[in-house]
Amino acid sequence: MMVMVTWDDGVQCSQVSDGCTQDGTPLYLQELIEGLSNPNGSPYRFTFFTTQTATAYDVVENLYANGHEIAGHTVTHGNDQGAANTYFPNMNASNAEAEVAGQRDIILSQTNIRMRDIKGYRCPDLAAGEEYRKQLYKHNFTYDSSLGTIFHAGEPNSTENLPVWPYTLDWGGSSRTYSAGSPANGPLPMAYNGLWEIPLNPLLADGHDCGTIDTCRPELAMYPFAGMSQTEVAAGFQWNFQRAYTTNRAPLGIFLHTAWLKDAPAGSTTPGDQTRKGLRLFLESLAKYDDVWVVTPTQVLQWMQAQGKAAAAAATFSSSTNAGVSFPDPNTLFVPPTDRPKARCAANAYRPCQGGQRHLLLKTGEQIMSPSCVYWKTCNRLCPNNFPWIDDIRGDGPRVGPSYNPTCKNQYLTSADADTDADERHYRMQVQEWLTTEQDEWRDAASP
Ligand SMILES: [Zn+2]
Repeated sequence: MMVMVTWDDGVQCSQVSDGCTQDGTPLYLQELIEGLSNPNGSPYRFTFFTTQTATAYDVVENLYANGHEIAGHTVTHGNDQGAANTYFPNMNASNAEAEVAGQRDIILSQTNIRMRDIKGYRCPDLAAGEEYRKQLYKHNFTYDSSLGTIFHAGEPNSTENLPVWPYTLDWGGSSRTYSAGSPANGPLPMAYNGLWEIPLNPLLADGHDCGTIDTCRPELAMYPFAGMSQTEVAAGFQWNFQRAYTTNRAPLGIFLHTAWLKDAPAGSTTPGDQTRKGLRLFLESLAKYDDVWVVTPTQVLQWMQAQGKAAAAAATFSSSTNAGVSFPDPNTLFVPPTDRPKARCAANAYRPCQGGQRHLLLKTGEQIMSPSCVYWKTCNRLCPNNFPWIDDIRGDGPRVGPSYNPTCKNQYLTSADADTDADERHYRMQVQEWLTTEQDEWRDAASP
């Protein structure tokens, strides 16, 4: 059985505890997976749905080089546009494109990550609408992970309530698809041939069913077992794991925010560590199985694809055990990527960039003559003019105008540096365009 652990929003060394390991893994993550490995010896790997806000790209580059999966979570997270759950479902096409494709472009321009390795996306607040999905499809993403699964009142292990496997949107959503968009649980998604969905199956509290859809919303799966002791947190994950492990073995998704790791017990005024310790206990328990794999969504999809189309279809909405389906050997699939480019700098040897705070302009519509500077970190040797944002994805807008604050300017060190940088970027964009075709073919082949 496969287990996925993912993290949403900005990525930095200092979100929970200060610092990163020498290979650029935030310490709070390293503590979770240290010494744990899959049956073939490959280390546990996480997935990061990243936004432009609060992301350190030197860390992202290092995480990627070490085999973690980097995915998209939009540029702005809706932070400047009012409530995310009304902004995202109502985006027009050009805005959606800037948010969805834009964040991937920013990652590509601020790191050495290959386009073909950014396959997935999650919409902030799970507020995915049709324009959002259209952009995923148009820009050759492989999977979305924003749709929830409806849990009916009643017996948690009944056929109608089992967690569902990832599925494609070839025929739109399923009868159990729950969309947190606006209106809540609105129309089912349209059909997108070959676009996969990694659904958010509800995580049920130990021994209890949710009772109603309101108490079992997929959003709640993203902040599970809050306020509980480490033993209870571990037991909660274990209960949900066993539910799938003893039935249809749908991959268990643990979809978190780093703030969850600091969850405080009820009534406490200081950050807690029980969720964090509980998750560690649970991951330790998984390492004892010889048929349990902690992998990324892309690895889950590769495994499903490798089963062949008939088996994938059988597994997708299977409500019983997968008897009779011949599964591929995970040892051949779950090997860490060895062909990725190395990180170009250590996570503490970044170049600090600064640019005008364009997003303030967008929010207020006012002309701010000297916008404050925004700082970010990258392994790039050179910085663009501005903080990359939805109206200036490369951040290389003109060095004049209301959003350009000369005091935020990052100088080219020498003209030779500037030439080299331009060549690098031009070359990389050519390669990325070529890879788009490859990614498209991968997705088409994945469709059952
Ligand atoms: Zn988010």
